[in-house]
Amino acid sequence: MNRSDFLSQIVQTFPLKLIDDMKRHYRKQLTKTPNGAIFRAKTNNCVITGYRSGKVLFQGTDPEKEVKHWSADGKQHAPVRKKSVNKNTNFHPPETLYSTYHIGSDEAGTGDYFGPITVGATYVTPTSIDKLKEIGVKDSKDLSDKRIRELANEIISLHIPYALLVLPNEKYNKLRKAGWTQGKMKSIMHHHAIQKLLHKIERKPMEGILIDQFCDPAIYKRHISSESEYPQEKLYFKTKAESYSIAVAAGSILARTRFVQEMDLLSKHAGITLPKGASQKVDKVIAAVKQKHGVTYLNSCAKVHFANTHKADAYL
Ligand code: MN
Repeated sequence: MNRSDFLSQIVQTFPLKLIDDMKRHYRKQLTKTPNGAIFRAKTNNCVITGYRSGKVLFQGTDPEKEVKHWSADGKQHAPVRKKSVNKNTNFHPPETLYSTYHIGSDEAGTGDYFGPITVGATYVTPTSIDKLKEIGVKDSKDLSDKRIRELANEIISLHIPYALLVLPNEKYNKLRKAGWTQGKMKSIMHHHAIQKLLHKIERKPMEGILIDQFCDPAIYKRHISSESEYPQEKLYFKTKAESYSIAVAAGSILARTRFVQEMDLLSKHAGITLPKGASQKVDKVIAAVKQKHGVTYLNSCAKVHFANTHKADAYL
């Protein structure tokens, strides 16, 4: 691939009246309008998205060309991540993000044979950060399931804006068969959770979005564009983000709580307590589920591509 083939993006602010003119200008090339946008249009080499905030995003191999049509009326912003699809620098958040308005997102259930994948994202403000600290929100890995559940209730009663997504096992197994990696599923789930939350908070101040990093950010972005979507602006990645950002920690608590609730429902339905993780202990339970309900039942409660599915046969 030639360097010049990389996607670039440019953001500019325009008067809303002009954005309406753009919508009219591109009327034959309009595509599905994303949340918070006035229009999105797709030309041969550029995708143009006009937002209610007055910002217009131009993305493509040579967005400057398209921008020139309009820019006499617009205020130029620094190009965003220009030609950096392949570069790994610059995806860590600034230290200041953790104490200001931001969104954090984390997932649960990815390493567990039984149960869905869940993703939780929360939006925090300097005031709610203090409140969350007060009630003891922190890295959920240091908390018991009981404490996590209590904290989830408290987070919700504090009216912290959040989004919570569940990928049920049937859907997971279907996507997997269609060639999706778990990384792609997680990427799309984080993306949608963030989109949902951005829609909820409308135009409240927001300095950045932090995802607990589970893959190379360039790969994350590739997954998002493979579904014809675009990563949000001010998107950051960091490993162990839940120990830096209380928004990620709260997202993780919500995701974990929902995962445990789903596991309880699946266990009740199966009439067998389904364990977390993917250890040998899990293999024995798989054998019991196969015996009681038949092998196809696993499709409704397990990530069937895990090696455990076959390892369990040792216990039949
Ligand atoms: Mn995580």
